[in-house]
Amino acid sequence: MTSSQFNSAATEAIQDITNYYDNMADRPVLPSVEPGYLAKLLPQSPPTEAESWDKIRADMESKIMPGMTHWQSPDFMAFFPASSSYPGMMGELWSAALTVPAFNWLCSPAVTELETIVMDWVAQMLALPECFLSKGKGGGVIQGSASEAIVTCMVAARERYVTRILEKEGIVLTEQQKEDRSAEIRSKLVALATKHTHSSTHKGANIAGTRFRSIDTLLSNDFALQGHELRSTIEKLKSQGLEPYFLTVSLGTTNTCAVDDFQSIAQVKKDYPDIWIHVDAAYAGVALVLPEYQHYCKHFSTFDSFDTNMHKWLLTNFDASCLFVQNRRHLTDALSITPAYLRNNFSDQGLVTDYRDWQIPLGRRFRALKVWFVIRTWGVEGLRKHIAHHLKLSDLFVELVKSRSDLLTIITPPAFALVVLTLANANTKKVYEIVDESKKVFLTSSLVGEAYAIRVVSANPLASEEGIRKVFGLLVEAAEKVLE
Ligand code: PLP
Repeated sequence: MTSSQFNSAATEAIQDITNYYDNMADRPVLPSVEPGYLAKLLPQSPPTEAESWDKIRADMESKIMPGMTHWQSPDFMAFFPASSSYPGMMGELWSAALTVPAFNWLCSPAVTELETIVMDWVAQMLALPECFLSKGKGGGVIQGSASEAIVTCMVAARERYVTRILEKEGIVLTEQQKEDRSAEIRSKLVALATKHTHSSTHKGANIAGTRFRSIDTLLSNDFALQGHELRSTIEKLKSQGLEPYFLTVSLGTTNTCAVDDFQSIAQVKKDYPDIWIHVDAAYAGVALVLPEYQHYCKHFSTFDSFDTNMHKWLLTNFDASCLFVQNRRHLTDALSITPAYLRNNFSDQGLVTDYRDWQIPLGRRFRALKVWFVIRTWGVEGLRKHIAHHLKLSDLFVELVKSRSDLLTIITPPAFALVVLTLANANTKKVYEIVDESKKVFLTSSLVGEAYAIRVVSANPLASEEGIRKVFGLLVEAAEKVLE
């Protein structure tokens, strides 16, 4: 494809994309294809001869679109959203055009420097404590996902814990003895979360090669972890000769958007400073742009890391998981390995940041561009309005649900544009299935404690009052049908 052919093809693609967005509501949010549908439509072997772009373009609509779930549709209220916006897409386009796997500063100084600047902007927007900014010992880095952020921190936490025990033991060891003792300590380490924490913490512990325990939390506390529950878990594990070294606390759990009790957990951290506490705010963290939520940040200076996905609720295309740490040395101590081919004067003199040492992969995409474009296009005030709009839609949905309390019950406090509801007499599953089969909206069901529940999230960029009234109408209609 030559530049001029690219120019025409890209112009058409932009046209197709804007048509797609402008007419999104006309497409059913869920596909109607059967598993294996695509193999029936595509050849089994790659084409021997080159194909025209026109032919490829036509296949987007005829072959790919039928198998798409339209996450950007206003009828998508499942899981948590995956934001998209035109400025976000422009960032992706430029990132693809430049294609620089900028693992070291020297690989493209602008990639590293823009990331440091925009991560400091994000930290300020979310009112994170100053210790997470790059001017001190901390700083932010863009990861691919909240799960990746967790496992990265977990490895840093594991190595920090081992080092601290070795220091406390204060025995002079040979390299071999140190390796053996470190392996022994690692075998005792336990990562902690609650039953409601996202599964990425359990997965992270599997990857980091440590144990994992989940702590029970109570419905009467809206499933939020309390300091005393954490303390008794730590004491019990220690009495068994195990070493809790990592805890994920949640600002917005996946099931119900519960927020753990940061104040009492921060108290426990004072007694166990070697346990790394990570705040998983994958979805709800961006709501901290609103001053009324910033009280949650009060205890964050006690915690070691914080992560939120701008690609979930803040208009930035996948992927932009913003991880902040209090002490970047803990990441680089665990993750920095520098063979001769990665050495250069700037890095050797400690003049620059090399983000390869803050993450699992070596190469990295120019993700800071889309974050920069999004923040500049909306401004902080615009981003606040964006979040506030979704919260208002959620309030409307709550009002509507309460108006039919004969049919529908909200089971945990609505939070961060998520409402979780059930129906009386175990009818929830039937109602969910009727709504799901209609393919008119896409919702997620889940188990909340013992209860089968339906989650409705109104944080999609295209979410609207009309959409909220539609989903409410569908739920009521299905509930009445089930009761008949
Ligand atoms: N944490 C929470 C609270 C989530 O809801 C999710 C996913 O929805 C994750 C972590 C994992 O996110 P990611 O897909 O970015 O790994």
